[in-house]
Amino acid sequence: MTDCLFCKIANHEIDAKIVYEDERAVAFRDINPKAPTHVLLIPRTHVATLNDLSEEHEADVGHLFVAAAKVAQAEGLSERGYRTVINCGAEAGQSVFHVHLHLLGGQPLGWPPFPRH
Ligand code: AMP
Repeated sequence: MTDCLFCKIANHEIDAKIVYEDERAVAFRDINPKAPTHVLLIPRTHVATLNDLSEEHEADVGHLFVAAAKVAQAEGLSERGYRTVINCGAEAGQSVFHVHLHLLGGQPLGWPPFPRH
């Protein structure tokens, strides 16, 4: 998609600190990190939200997790532990509408990751 920030990062049209890429996925450091390691993993295929996924995307989305485990290994997080998160829609706080997997680690991570009301 021509007007998508993350598509532009995947196509190297906008700078980002890319830490991993292959034919299906690109991983880059979050510009506003919420933990010592905060990497975003995206499919090269543009899909806006989890709600827009269909069976044709299963391989791409599954691949994000395989790539996330590789990045976690490279970042020294495999044994320490880390978290993967996909925000979907307003109440989850999704702000960029190209599906992305957050990989967070490098400190103890609270649970649940939101205040209870
Ligand atoms: P979400 O709120 O789940 O949609 O996550 C979007 C994430 O993208 C946020 O954590 C932002 O800090 C991050 N972000 C926005 N613009 C950029 C950018 N140009 N490069 C890297 N990360 C970005």
